[in-house]
Order: sequence, then C-alpha cells, then structure tokens
Amino acid sequence: MAKKVIKKAKSKPAKKASRPKTSVAKMKSAPAKPVKKKLVKGFNAKELTYFKGIITDKRREILEELAILKESMMDVTTGEYASENSTYSTHMEQGTDAMEREKTFLFASREGKFLNYLDDALKRIDKGTYGFCINCGKLIPKARLEAVPHAQLCIECKNLKKGSM
Ligand SMILES: [Zn+2]
Repeated sequence: MAKKVIKKAKSKPAKKASRPKTSVAKMKSAPAKPVKKKLVKGFNAKELTYFKGIITDKRREILEELAILKESMMDVTTGEYASENSTYSTHMEQGTDAMEREKTFLFASREGKFLNYLDDALKRIDKGTYGFCINCGKLIPKARLEAVPHAQLCIECKNLKKGSM
C-alpha cells in the first residue's frame, strides 16, 4: 500500500541568508578609552604597546645579564681564584685575567648605555614622541624599530651622522 506521498516539501526556503554579514563587522574601536591627544601620524596606541613590550623585554634581559656580570666581577675582584693557586699564577694568567676583567667592564658599560637608551625610549613612548626621528622628524619605519627599538634616528639621518662623526 503506497501511502499518499505528501508533496515533497520543496526544501524550505532557508532563512534568507543572502546578505553577507560583513556589514555588521565588529565595531572594534571602543570609544570608552580616554584617548590621548592624537599623535601626528605617529604610531597608534596598539603599536606603541607593542614596542613597549619589545623594549621592556630587552630591558629585563639586560638587567639579568648585568646582574650575572656583576656577580662574576665580584668573584674576580675578591681574588678567590688568584689565592687558590697563587703559587702557580703566571704573568700570562694575570694578563688574561686583567683582559677578561676589562672586557667584562666594557661589556657592562655598553649594556648600561643600552639600558639608558631603552629607558629613554620608554620615556618617549609615554611622552608620545616615540618613533620620530629626532633629526628630521619623520616617522621611523616600523621594521627598523623592531630591530632597534631604541632608535632615535631614521636610517638616512643615521647614515648622515655617521659621516659627520
Ligand atoms: Zn631622520
């Protein structure tokens, strides 16, 4: 017995899904944030936060390195190593020892300088002057700042300065 076949319901016209949702794109900009004075063509808050992250990480790295360095310098200056085999220490060893120490100091001072640059960069982020070449005022390309986050000069100006220095 063949039951009456109900009219095959034409597949219900699915809820109109024709309109692409793009028109309802998430509204990202939350106007709630207290926006600082608009920077003239500068990096936006998100980018600045990004750079801040890079700088803070580098800073922490250096501080750790310096702390280790400080320890190792202390050891050298207390002379523990020297007294241990004082009878054996030759001029050569003393020489390299001094050289090592000098190298360490040099390295430490270079790192210290770097640290200052990074601190300065952080200050400039807060002031809203970060990313601008201090010589020509142009915005330094992001790629350069990613490589050298404390850069204060654009490549062109840097090369110019190198020539004059
Ligand atoms: Zn420049």
